[in-house]
Amino acid sequence: MGKTGLKLIDENGIRIDGRKPDQLRPISMDVGVLKNAQGSALVSYGKTTVLAAVYGPREALPRHMTLPDRAILRVRYHMAPFSTTERKSPAPTRREVELSKVIRESLEASVFTELYPRTTIDIFIEVLQADGGTRTTSLTAASMALADAGIPMKDLIAGVAVGKVNGKLVLDINEAEDSGGEADMPVAMMPNLGKIVLLQLNGTLTRDEFKEAMKMSIKAIKEIYLIQKQTLRDKYAKMTEEEKEE
Ligand code: ADP
Repeated sequence: MGKTGLKLIDENGIRIDGRKPDQLRPISMDVGVLKNAQGSALVSYGKTTVLAAVYGPREALPRHMTLPDRAILRVRYHMAPFSTTERKSPAPTRREVELSKVIRESLEASVFTELYPRTTIDIFIEVLQADGGTRTTSLTAASMALADAGIPMKDLIAGVAVGKVNGKLVLDINEAEDSGGEADMPVAMMPNLGKIVLLQLNGTLTRDEFKEAMKMSIKAIKEIYLIQKQTLRDKYAKMTEEEKEE
């Protein structure tokens, strides 16, 4: 049983949405979905759907906020009022302010900000539908939007959350597993460099569970990374085709 007493995994090890413990939700991705943003991406992990848009690097106002040796990243993570089952107030909550900061710090690890002194790069993240794992989906989407904007990065970032439900580790948790489970561990990394850029843990795991959860998340992140790269490649192949036709 989870902390709420709910049965979240059956005797055959199948989860409430029919997945096996180490199975990701269906993932879909697209880039360049907004004409007026420099870069954009739409990413879904199951029902969790996030839109990310990048503006910049551009001259920052107020000017005193800029830095002489690098660009600053500004991130706004926001959940749309219609993204949750009960209407969410459009005003930013403490959770959204905190997540904006956490996501910004993770993205800062990947961007070559020193290439654009005295500028800002604005990243707007809009959660269109929330069903668990929005911060990790947001990081996957924001990183692709930065790539779509042509901003040089050390590597892409991909993320996923591992949880513990009814005493068992499960990959890519949905909201029911997040709220009814014993632990929730979002992880994001630069897969090619093998660097972790986000690691949080809500709840408790034993040392062995933690090791296993890390292994599960790294394997999944590498799978997500392949889809990211393929999506970006397909987009640019299509663009080149269109240019040839013009
Ligand atoms: P994450 O989305 O990264 O897992 P949390 O653990 O804080 O972050 O949230 C878990 C899930 O709870 C979210 O994905 C979302 O489905 C739901 N949730 C969060 N905030 C709200 C809210 N204000 N109203 C309704 N549901 C929410």
